[in-house]
Amino acid sequence: MNAIYFPAGVLQPPNFDMAADDAANYGNLASLIGHELTHGFDDEGRHYDAQGNLKDLWTKEDAASFDARAAGLVREYNVFVAVQGRGGRSKDVHVNGELTLGENTADNGGAGFLMKRSGLRRARMRGPMLTALLRRSASS
Ligand SMILES: [Zn+2]
Repeated sequence: MNAIYFPAGVLQPPNFDMAADDAANYGNLASLIGHELTHGFDDEGRHYDAQGNLKDLWTKEDAASFDARAAGLVREYNVFVAVQGRGGRSKDVHVNGELTLGENTADNGGAGFLMKRSGLRRARMRGPMLTALLRRSASS
């Protein structure tokens, strides 16, 4: 089987909040759905066909193109600090962009899906997410 399920439990903060504006709830859910859809076509989803059978969907060229684009995400996420050091011998612990590549790809895919479908303006976003989205938009 090849399916995506969204348990009702995701309909709580930060994904969904009854007190929030509808636009915020729809935006959060669109990003979540985009994230999960992206997994169907990323370095993990590539191994399954439309019926969920184990079958590599990518050509060698597809894989090389993905690897070239993914290298930028790996470099970008390697810079992010997951746990801030407390000084002295306590150093910052950085994200390992190679290990988190699938989730980072899906997060960027989900945010890209949201931006394309909602018409969000790039000028309103800042920081690493904007950088990732602009890079992704330029390469697609
Ligand atoms: Zn994920």
